[in-house]
Amino acid sequence: MANQRPRTAQQLARVAELRERGMTGPQIAKEMRLSTTRVEVLLRQAGFSGKVKQPERHGIPARWKAGCRCELCKNARRDYRQAEYQNARKRAIDAWEAGEHSPGPLCPCPACRKAAAVTLSARLERTQACAVEHGQPWTADEDEKALDRRFKIEDIARSLGRTYAAVANRRRYLARKRKTQRDQDDTLES
Ligand SMILES: [Zn+2]
Ligand SMILES: [Zn+2]
Repeated sequence: MANQRPRTAQQLARVAELRERGMTGPQIAKEMRLSTTRVEVLLRQAGFSGKVKQPERHGIPARWKAGCRCELCKNARRDYRQAEYQNARKRAIDAWEAGEHSPGPLCPCPACRKAAAVTLSARLERTQACAVEHGQPWTADEDEKALDRRFKIEDIARSLGRTYAAVANRRRYLARKRKTQRDQDDTLES
């Protein structure tokens, strides 16, 4: 491995990257304009055992749940959530049309829609009213507060003087950052 030519090292890295994204040997060969045999050799060298006949099961919500955040799995998860939402909404509409009222944020009846709109705008108003820190950089203290799951985002927003959206975004950002850090630590330890 030590006197491997740079070109080979580059190809190995690329092959591994594509394989991890769920591409099959033939797909990788096509993408990299290499022969399938050459790709199989590279895959073995990169530590992927045997021939790749089946794509890895990326691009399914279960894989996302298992922790994969590749584009395929993220998209699959998003599509799944959207489909779930659409189904739930359709059920609520069907129920309403069939004369069975199941009240909730998805119900199409005027009363429920009004309630949902009021909840949302009230939440936005409450946090906007005291969002005086808008646009200010986040301090370490504020980050700790934003991540504190014991409190509702709305309450944190109020106590920090930031908007609901700002706190929600910051919380997502920090969670992602911490996860990346953990993953890196794991890689270093293993
Ligand atoms: Zn994946
Ligand atoms: Zn309703």
